[in-house]
Amino acid sequence: MELTNEYLLGIQKKVEQKNPAEVEFHQAAKEVLMSLQPVVEKDPKYIESGVIERIIEPERQIMFRVPWVDDSGKIQVNRGFRVQFNSAIGPYKGGLRFHPTVNLGVIKFLGFEQIFKNSLTTLPMGGGKGGSDFDPKGKSEGEIMRFCQSFMTELYRHIGPDTDVPAGDINVGGREIGYMFGQYKRITNTFAGVLTGKGLTFGGSLARTEATGYGLCYFTENMLQANGKSFKGQTVVISGSGNVAIYAHQKATELGAKVVAMCDSNGYVYDKNGIDLAAIKQIKEVERKRIKEYLNYHPDAEYHEGCKGIWTIPCDIALPSATQNEIDEESAKALAANGCYCVSEGSNMSSTPEAIEVYFANKMLYGPAKAANAGGVAVSGLEMSQNSERLSWTFEEVDNKLKAIMKDIFENCDEKSKAYGMPGNYMAGANIAGFLKVADAMIAQGN
Ligand code: NDP
Repeated sequence: MELTNEYLLGIQKKVEQKNPAEVEFHQAAKEVLMSLQPVVEKDPKYIESGVIERIIEPERQIMFRVPWVDDSGKIQVNRGFRVQFNSAIGPYKGGLRFHPTVNLGVIKFLGFEQIFKNSLTTLPMGGGKGGSDFDPKGKSEGEIMRFCQSFMTELYRHIGPDTDVPAGDINVGGREIGYMFGQYKRITNTFAGVLTGKGLTFGGSLARTEATGYGLCYFTENMLQANGKSFKGQTVVISGSGNVAIYAHQKATELGAKVVAMCDSNGYVYDKNGIDLAAIKQIKEVERKRIKEYLNYHPDAEYHEGCKGIWTIPCDIALPSATQNEIDEESAKALAANGCYCVSEGSNMSSTPEAIEVYFANKMLYGPAKAANAGGVAVSGLEMSQNSERLSWTFEEVDNKLKAIMKDIFENCDEKSKAYGMPGNYMAGANIAGFLKVADAMIAQGN
């Protein structure tokens, strides 16, 4: 697909001029603008109202200093971000990422995607994202806690249960959310549902930990079944070994698949007998060690340095669940050449635009991140509902709602892809479905 519409091309040019060097944001914007071509051609209201120029500009972007004291008593400084992108359909909602590669462009791409993803869940949530260039690797427990407390000491003034409700993302899990929640409570003297992904003893939701990985498999199973296939008996490769990857492994296995490879940022393991999830959980969740330790549990498995090689392993289904642009054109071609017929994204913007072209050229099924990984934020939305009610639902209740939401998301993407003349293009379907609801709300609200 090419971006050829003159009006939308003009918008893309402006995005690149006004946000120089924010390459990930340019990429995310272009993908959405490309998908909107048939929308503006069908209904001029979306041009006349200027809603696309509006949706592409964040409502507010906050950058701040995060000073914290390391174990040797030295003050370290990191940069904090919160981009409050769009509140047309609900309070800003989106995760916090702590990773040395975090910069404004990365947070903006994530925040922009979040608008459409949250809209797809059908829950009342706007789009936002935040984080820091803090690198938690090698930091002590005390350093992580002091960093989280300092981060929240600035962030607290910008968020609130009806304003902006952050959650986790890369390197921000239950531990970090707990420290940030504690600091918010201490500063504001309120016990509020201001973060999701909280511990179960203080307002967290059952099934939130599992939600993104499970949701990814529910979406993918719907997509597979609509195309005469299923996870049953299929060989699966999952990148990453964090929150999303672990629970994607668990659900894909439950649905009858065999997961043969996983990775971390250092390298990947291939186990032809199927990756032993208990070993991965012990290494990554309990010991917080490197994935190569897997060989201590299964000496007959293979470990390879570097992550890219994981896409050369023959598989039927690939579930990228580590980070953005992890599948490039070369990796997509390797997947296709080895018989992979389905790529469904757990990580945000897992695939480069060139990789997506390869999927379409090879008639592979492609589940785009903003639809396929929306289960995490959907259950965050359900956590907000439980906090408002001051009630906790059972695991089954939450899981059943998640299943229903992921089915609806798939059907919505499918239906929009057909209605706009691109059947089977779930990327366009997701972008259009997500956009229409938010755009109509923005037009109605006049801002
Ligand atoms: P985690 O921090 O739990 O795990 C991330 C995993 O990806 C780790 O195995 C990590 O390896 C690996 N990884 C991170 N950066 C890189 C990199 N640059 N190259 C190779 N591997 C890398 O994060 P999550 O599982 O929560 O998030 C994974 C992806 O899913 C992200 O794109 C996130 O935005 C997306 N996502 C997460 C949601 C959630 O609910 N958590 C919701 C929706 C999307 P290492 O340990 O070596 O760093």
